[in-house]
Amino acid sequence: TYNYKRNRELFQKALKVIPTGIYGHLGPTSSCFIPVDAYPCFASRAKGAYIWDVDGNRFIDYMCAYGPNILGYNDEDVEAAVEKQMKLGNCTTTPFAIMIDMAELLVDTVEMADWAFFAKNGGDVTNFALMVAKAATGRKKTILVKGGYHGVAPWTQKLGYPGIVEEDVANNIYVEWNNYDQVEKIVRENPGEIACFMATPYHHPIFMDNELPKKDYWQKIRKLCTDNGIVLAIDDVRCGFRLDLKGSDHYFGFKADLMCFCKALGNGWNFSALCGIDALKDAVSSVMYTGSYWLSAVPFAAGIACINKLKKINAPKIMKSQGKKLTDGLVDIGKRHGFNLIVTGEPSMWYMRIANDDSLMLHQEWVAECVKRGVFFTNHHNLFMNCAMTDEDIEFTHEVADEAFKVVKARNKELF
Ligand code: PMP
Repeated sequence: TYNYKRNRELFQKALKVIPTGIYGHLGPTSSCFIPVDAYPCFASRAKGAYIWDVDGNRFIDYMCAYGPNILGYNDEDVEAAVEKQMKLGNCTTTPFAIMIDMAELLVDTVEMADWAFFAKNGGDVTNFALMVAKAATGRKKTILVKGGYHGVAPWTQKLGYPGIVEEDVANNIYVEWNNYDQVEKIVRENPGEIACFMATPYHHPIFMDNELPKKDYWQKIRKLCTDNGIVLAIDDVRCGFRLDLKGSDHYFGFKADLMCFCKALGNGWNFSALCGIDALKDAVSSVMYTGSYWLSAVPFAAGIACINKLKKINAPKIMKSQGKKLTDGLVDIGKRHGFNLIVTGEPSMWYMRIANDDSLMLHQEWVAECVKRGVFFTNHHNLFMNCAMTDEDIEFTHEVADEAFKVVKARNKELF
């Protein structure tokens, strides 16, 4: 199994000058990277479905940078477009007209979109969506789903977390996923006060099986919002372009008022987009919102190349069928060894856990054995497919998973 000597040396070096070494969910203090010693810390290069770490170990990367890698790292069409724009310029006082091309492409591609507004991170646009909803309605409360993730702005976090005060979350009302009656009751009890209902298209929390919407859930929520003047904002930051290029609202058969996109937009080139309907254009225009790099041109060049290629190859179909092949195989191989591997969510961004023990320790052990053999899974977070993953990659993953199941079973004989 892999050796991480250089990774560890560099992590110690990072700790001296960077708080926590690698911060947030990408760092080893995140519960996704348990046990920490199974994981590399730093990449040395990336191509297609793979990353190589600073010790020279190769991994099939099933985290895809937490979503941005959708075509494969360093995709040649995206990189050619980037190189071309790079020669012309990137961050300039007046934006390049390529920004309009990018907006037109989104309006043409995303079914609900009449306009597009660009920023950098997913959190920029979820935050903006709320501001737009408040500006449009003159109301201040938001309904959010428990366990939903919308970024790190104070309103997205929990009271009790460091740096969060009561006022930050005072206007949030939390509901259970897929519970329409609860939403309906809250709307009834807060007449004329709810500005926005914000949720992801399906429920993909950490540490929990992921859940698709119940039949008619979104159609009923859509009607409730329309009838009560509530803005329906969908956070498609994670699902966007992995389920349906027309938008995940389209995939589940309804139409959102606002859609937040980020991760897969530019195959890793940094930008996000809020898309919306005409009725909200004045409200969007009225809100003060901008950033130093938000109109930079290179990510737009990447975005145009990326979306055009996603369309050309019918990317969601590829990721769904490859994801199904991969996860069906993992479940079967696990079963042969006596493991009950449960897979939930969409195949292009599935969630999995070994359910033989409640503690999740077996799952963590198995994931660790996979990682140390070149299959980069994490624990307790959904994983991601990308379009560069081949049948050979899936076969290799199955072989590694098989070996990892054997090792974990031998170590935990009493459980089988
Ligand atoms: N919403 C969802 C559903 C996400 O998955 C993420 C990122 N994991 C965000 C919002 C925040 O995006 P960012 O980290 O780019 O600000």
